[in-house]
Amino acid sequence: MSTENNLEQLYNNSVQILTDLIAFKTISGEDNSSLINYCDDILKKLGATSFRTYDNEKKRVNLFATLKAKNSNNKKPIILSGHTDVVPVSKGWSSDPFTATIKSDKLYGRGSCDMKGFIACTLAYAPIYSNSNLDRDIHFSFTFDEETACQGAPILIEELKKRDIKDGICIIGEPTNMKIIDAHKGCYEYTTYFKGLAGHSSAPHKGVSAVEYASRYVNKLIELRDKLKSRAPKDSIFDPPHSTLSIGGIFGGIAHNVIADKCHVNWETRPVVKEDGIFLNQEIDKYANEELLPEMRKIFPNASIEKDIIGEIVGFDRKDKSDACELISSLTGDNSRQVVSFGTEAGLFQEIGISTVVCGPGSIDQAHKIDEYIVLDELKKCLNLLDGIKEESVPN
Ligand SMILES: [Zn+2]
Repeated sequence: MSTENNLEQLYNNSVQILTDLIAFKTISGEDNSSLINYCDDILKKLGATSFRTYDNEKKRVNLFATLKAKNSNNKKPIILSGHTDVVPVSKGWSSDPFTATIKSDKLYGRGSCDMKGFIACTLAYAPIYSNSNLDRDIHFSFTFDEETACQGAPILIEELKKRDIKDGICIIGEPTNMKIIDAHKGCYEYTTYFKGLAGHSSAPHKGVSAVEYASRYVNKLIELRDKLKSRAPKDSIFDPPHSTLSIGGIFGGIAHNVIADKCHVNWETRPVVKEDGIFLNQEIDKYANEELLPEMRKIFPNASIEKDIIGEIVGFDRKDKSDACELISSLTGDNSRQVVSFGTEAGLFQEIGISTVVCGPGSIDQAHKIDEYIVLDELKKCLNLLDGIKEESVPN
C-alpha cells in the first residue's frame, strides 16, 4: 500500500460497499439482479466491460466483468471470484441480518464473511486497478446460488469456454482467514422419487409401497458406502480419507393402514475422486432400474423411480504445481496448504484449466450462523492482497 491514508480510504470504502451489499437480500434461489446491477455499475464506471449469464427464468444473474490490460504482457489473467447469494436467516439475530452493524472490531450481517466481504474488497480496490498500467486482464466473477450446490457457476463456466477464457489464475474469496485452501471433496446432492400404487394395508400384494422400495434403495446406498471406504486412495489428503455418503431424509406415507404411493429420499455423497461419484451413480441406478423397478412394474406398470440431481459440486484437487497458490504465497508469505470440508466453485474453474485457489477474508466458523460477522481487520488483509496483485500486474 503506497500510503497509510490510501489504505484507510480503501478500507472505509470497502466497509461502505459491504454495508450496501448486505442490504440486498440475495438469499439463494431469489432474484439477485439488484446486487448485480450495483456491482456492474461500479465496474462500468471504471471502464470495465462485462457480460451476464442467467438461470432459465432470467431471475438470477451471474456477472463477469473485465478491466482490460493496457499493455498485454502475455501474463495470465486474474479472476477474482465470489458468490452473491447468502443462506437464509433463522430467528435469534441480535441485530437485523440485512443491516450491517459494526460492534467493536466486527461487522455483523448475513453474508458479511460468506462472502460479500471479499466482493466488497474487490470493488473497493477496483478503481486502483483501473488507474494502473495493467499488463494483464483482471476479471471479476460474481455468481448466483453457490449455496445451493453451485447452480449458477456452471452456467458462467460454459460461457467462459465459449469466449475462450480457459486460462488464468482464479482466487475464490471464500472465508479462509486469508489462508490458502487448495483442495476439497466434491459434494453431490440427489433426491430420488418413488411412485408406487396406494391401497389398503390389509392387502399389500395389491399395492406397490413406495416407502418399502425407498427403504431397499437406502439399504443399497448404505451397502455402497462400505465399498466407497475400500476405494479410498492410498495418498488421500482428506479426513475421512474416503468418499462419504449420507442419507439426509426419507419422506413418505400418510397412515398406518394405507400403502404409501409416494416417497422420496434426500441423499448426498462427497467423492474424493470423480470416479467414486461415477461408480456410485452407476451402481445405484443399476439397482433401481434392473431390480427394484421391474418388481414394482409387475404390479403397477406406471410405477417409477426418478433420481433428481440437486447439484454436483465437483471436487477441487490438489496440484503439485499451482500458479494460483504460488501467487498467494509470494504475496502473503503463507506457504501452508490446507484442505477444507466445505464445497466451493473452485473445482469448476479448475476443470477448464484455470489455476485456482480458495483464499479470502473472514472465518468459515462464522458462516451460515446466527450473528454472522467478519472481523474488520480481515478486510484490510484482503485489501493488502489485492494491492499485491496489482504490483504483480504492472510492468516493473
Ligand atoms: Zn460461501
